[in-house]
Formats: sequence, C-alpha cells, structure tokens
Amino acid sequence: MTNLDDLPIRRDLVGQLPYGAPQIDVPIRLNVNENTFGIPEEVALKIVQRTAEAALTLNRYPDREFIELRRMLAEFLGGNLAAEQIWAANGSNEILQQFFQVFGGPDVKAISFGPTYSMYLNIARTTMTDYQLLPRLGDYSLTEDYVRQEILKAQPQIVILCSPNNPTGTGTSLEVIEAAYDSFEGMLLVDEAYQEFANSPSAISLLPGRPRLVISRTMSKAFAFAGARVGYMAADAAVVDAMRIVRLPYHLSALTQAAAMAALETSGQLLANVQQIKVQRDRIMVGVLKMGLRPLPSDANFVLIEGFDDTQMIFDGLLSKGIIVRDIGIAGCLRVTAGTEAETTKLLGELALLLD
Ligand SMILES: *Cc1c(COP(=O)(O)O)cnc(C)c1O
Repeated sequence: MTNLDDLPIRRDLVGQLPYGAPQIDVPIRLNVNENTFGIPEEVALKIVQRTAEAALTLNRYPDREFIELRRMLAEFLGGNLAAEQIWAANGSNEILQQFFQVFGGPDVKAISFGPTYSMYLNIARTTMTDYQLLPRLGDYSLTEDYVRQEILKAQPQIVILCSPNNPTGTGTSLEVIEAAYDSFEGMLLVDEAYQEFANSPSAISLLPGRPRLVISRTMSKAFAFAGARVGYMAADAAVVDAMRIVRLPYHLSALTQAAAMAALETSGQLLANVQQIKVQRDRIMVGVLKMGLRPLPSDANFVLIEGFDDTQMIFDGLLSKGIIVRDIGIAGCLRVTAGTEAETTKLLGELALLLD
C-alpha cells in the first residue's frame, strides 16, 4: 500500500481534499438538502418500466444527444425554450464542470459571492480556473449597485450567482441578475438548484437576447431524484454547442435518460411535496426563533440558523438522537434541511432540549 503523498499527482492538487459531506445512516437526515419524502410507488413503477425498456437495448450506446429528454425538459421549464437550448448531465455538478471546462481555464477568472456553494471552488480548482469569492452584504443579500461595483472591480470572465443561495437561502431579484449580466462581457451562470422552493421568479425569463446567460437546474432537490444524478441547464443554443465539445461521448447513460424521462412524466407527483416542505421550512424558522436563535429568511428547502454558542455540542447532540444536520464551517451556524412534518417536530423538540 502506498501513500497519497507518494504519488506524482498534479502539483496544484497536492494537499487538497475531496468533497465530503458526511454520509451517516441515521433515521433523520437533514444535512444535504435532499427531498426527504420518498418516491411514490406509482412513480417508481414508471421508472422501472422505462428503464426495463432501455435495458433491452443496453448493448448499444445511448442517444448521445438525448434529444427526447431535452424536449421534455424544455417543456417542463416552459418559456418557449427549444430542446436545442437544453443540456443535461450527471447532476448539475457535472453541468458546472462542463461549463468550467469550456469557459474556464488557466487564463480565466471566475467570481462568486460567498458564503456560497463550495463546489464552485472545487470545480474551478480542477479546471485550473482562478476563483475569487467576494463577500455578500451584511444580510447575505445582493443589490444591483453592489454587484455592478464588485464585477467592475474584479474584471472576471465568469460570474456565478447561486439563487436561492446555498447555504444562506437568499433569493436574488431579476434586477440584480440583469445588472450582473450588463456589468461584464463574460459568462453569467445562475445556479437555480433550489428554484422550485423560491418565491422570487426564475431567471429563465431573462434568456431571450442574453446569449452569455446560463441557468442551471437539478432534479436532486425538489424532484426527489438525487440518487439518479440528473442536472440540466437552459441557455442559448450556441452555449449548448460549446458544452458538447467537452462532454465525454455518451455521458448520460440510457438508464439515466430513461429514469429522468419517467420522472418528468410523473413530475406532478414528484413535486407534490414542495408546498409541504416550504411549510416545514417556515415552521423551523418560527420554531428556532422562539428558542432565541437567528434563522435567516429562506427561499430554499433549508434554513441557515445563526446564534449557537457551541455548534459542535448541538451537532453531536442531535446526531446522538438520530438527526444529522450540516455544519458548513461558519462560526455559530448550522444548516438544516426542511423535511417531513414528523422530522421537523423531532428536530425542534431535540433542539429545544439541547439548548435548555
Ligand atoms: C445540491 C446543489 C447542486 C446540485 O447538485 P447535483 O446533485 O449535482 O445536481 C447544485 N448547486 C447547488 C447550490 C446545490 O446546493
């Protein structure tokens, strides 16, 4: 057995760590913003039926352009999008990676406004793109003036806006997104992983006439489809053509395509719990506020809670009761996913006991 340190890995990767949100098998998992409602049996049967059909032709490579799936995704998003404006991959993380592979690289500077999704840094790193994290305003919001000023100062070629933002839950107005777009000449990616939970509108409506705008989405959160690994994006058809240069041939397996189409055919059932999750999110906010904590207003399916004296004690205490939440590395803060009513009840009950 050799040691990682003994291997001739790329010099810029020495000492770097892989993404590693803990995967601990406890009854209540509120740490990675999954939809905690299970897949309805009817949906599961549809998936089995679609994948069984695909299984009969697994000797052949899948449709490299997965045009049928793209047509269905375009229809799901609405806004008169054509299938040629849609691209999909194994999770929106792969969308992000392909985006950085084609638009990033050694001479490119990307920026985002933090705290935000940690994978932007990781993907910038593996694509050798310079990445600068600029601070958000005091309440983690962004304004037109602030975004414009920071982009003019930083002179980036790529801007990433996460909206609603992970881990703060903060939404971004369309005016801010427009201001960002107009402040530079490069590519603007809006990561809408949590858009289905938001009250603020999607940036999809901004696509016409904005060829440098990319909206990424995922089936991992609201769609309850994290295990299937399906992310997608909408953009100008030319951006999709650019992504096709770097994608690996046949990157989306026939089984993934079949499962995703089954999910889209039953999207009504898969998305049925979004409203209930928003109710639980708001219940968590009200509940922890009463405990003297400071929950941030959230447009997503999670709440960032500030004001813990000892986050490690709370994290460990909840874990010992079978509940895992997320320590995202901000002092005094924990992030909690909104799940079922029973999960919220248990979470709030145990949290109150620990704070006492
Ligand atoms: C969860 C998440 C994603 C997505 O992940 P995939 O499972 O790869 O689709 C993307 N962006 C943000 C901000 C997320 O929180």
